[in-house]
Amino acid sequence: MDLPKHKKYVVIGAGIHGLSSAWHLAKELKARGKGSGDDIVVLDKTSPGAGASGIACGVVRNFYYQPAMGEVMRVSVEVWEENAEEFAYHGVGYMALVGPVQDKDLASIYERHQRKGYRSDLITGEQKVHDYMRAMFPDWKARGLTTCLHEKQGGFAFNKSSVMGLAKKVESEGVSILSGVQVTGFDMRDGIVTAVQTNQGKIHTEQVVVGVGPWIKQVWTMLGLPNKIDIKKPNGDLVKDWNMWTFWRLQEGEIRFDPTAYTTADGAYPPVMHVDSTEPLVSDKTGELITDQLWGIYFKRDKAGVQGGAVPENLGHDAQIDPYGTASKYVVQEDFVDYWTAGLAHCMQRFEGCSGEYHWASSGGVGAFTADSFPVFDAMLPNVYVVADSNHGYKMIGVGKEVAKVLMGEHSSVLHPFRFARFAEGDLHPVSSSPYPWS
Ligand SMILES: Cc1cc2nc3c(=O)[nH]c(=O)nc-3n(C[C@H](O)[C@H](O)[C@H](O)COP(=O)(O)OP(=O)(O)OC[C@H]3O[C@@H](n4cnc5c(N)ncnc54)[C@H](O)[C@@H]3O)c2cc1C
Repeated sequence: MDLPKHKKYVVIGAGIHGLSSAWHLAKELKARGKGSGDDIVVLDKTSPGAGASGIACGVVRNFYYQPAMGEVMRVSVEVWEENAEEFAYHGVGYMALVGPVQDKDLASIYERHQRKGYRSDLITGEQKVHDYMRAMFPDWKARGLTTCLHEKQGGFAFNKSSVMGLAKKVESEGVSILSGVQVTGFDMRDGIVTAVQTNQGKIHTEQVVVGVGPWIKQVWTMLGLPNKIDIKKPNGDLVKDWNMWTFWRLQEGEIRFDPTAYTTADGAYPPVMHVDSTEPLVSDKTGELITDQLWGIYFKRDKAGVQGGAVPENLGHDAQIDPYGTASKYVVQEDFVDYWTAGLAHCMQRFEGCSGEYHWASSGGVGAFTADSFPVFDAMLPNVYVVADSNHGYKMIGVGKEVAKVLMGEHSSVLHPFRFARFAEGDLHPVSSSPYPWS
């Protein structure tokens, strides 16, 4: 399809957020008799799933200390569950296991789950946690874990399949998705975007939605938005000139492992696992101590083995790397392999010796995190809605549903806590004791 001269709605980015926004917007327009999918075009410089959404581990969880993040996930899990087959979603559940430093965090997450009707169990006390894990995995070994939050909802989806499923939904609503169209700038009048400039020409428009994942700093800058901001801290202090964007290297990998040998004791598909521990972490390869400080890994059964990741690495504010343009060896470092496989072997006997089974495949990537590491979901210009998920968001498929409502003129209490003005107002999200920048 040729580039249209005009579209009422231009969505930039065909990842989880751009596609979900376009899909829900098309449905809203139709339901309200205000238009149809034909009023929307989605542009992607490469193709659907070319960004973070197509490489994500695919974990879907409501393991969030921040109530507002929990709300986003409640809405999102509904979307996953309603479309499980089309989105290759597997509601196998999610388990977070932690040591004493995070006991309180998990208790408060569990209480919120109970209040909101999100199905989860909390197991507390080192021995009880160990017994619970042994009942599920007879070869469970990890000690020193004092709380287990077992979410009975959530799980994972297969990344590319879910993006393709979503793209199908979008197209079935009459929306066009144009691949190979890169946005290079904007025509503006009085602070309002009148046209989107691309490598293939110009599209005049009334409303733009930006969902460009880790490329957000580029498009943010094109829109003339600030790359340094002032933040009011909860104690009232003003921090001036804080960097809006920070880049983190997310390291993920997989081991070859007969998937049928990774089941629970009763033969079921295991939940996605997340372990944060201060027990000594010893290399599966060399037997040497890697760390006795807080470490963390996550893993899930995948098609040909076990896939997962570890605590990411901060790359700073000016990382000039094309997140997915290079081979995974560039993103995944040898010390990650040692760390992650040590974590697997630490947890279950069946994974002892797994470092020899590490499979160098295309995985890992770079995430763009906001000034407080939480999303910005907001109309950053009167007719430009920005979905910048701060790398939280494959799981947040429900954000697009809320964005569509906002574009119809409604208020979204789910998105409101993620407005840009929170930085200046000091209305920041509470911070957990997790070693991850996204918990
Ligand atoms: C290795 C890794 C693992 C992850 N694992 C998980 C996980 O398990 N669970 C989870 O919830 N989240 C996970 N995340 C985070 C999650 O993948 C992202 O937060 C989410 O996918 C972002 O979606 P998006 O739609 O905003 O961006 P993307 O999926 O990156 O899509 C953006 C699209 O915009 C296009 N684009 C960019 N710039 C332009 C431009 N100028 N013009 C036109 N098109 C443009 C790109 O080609 C791309 O297709 C992970 C991230 C990484 C890197």
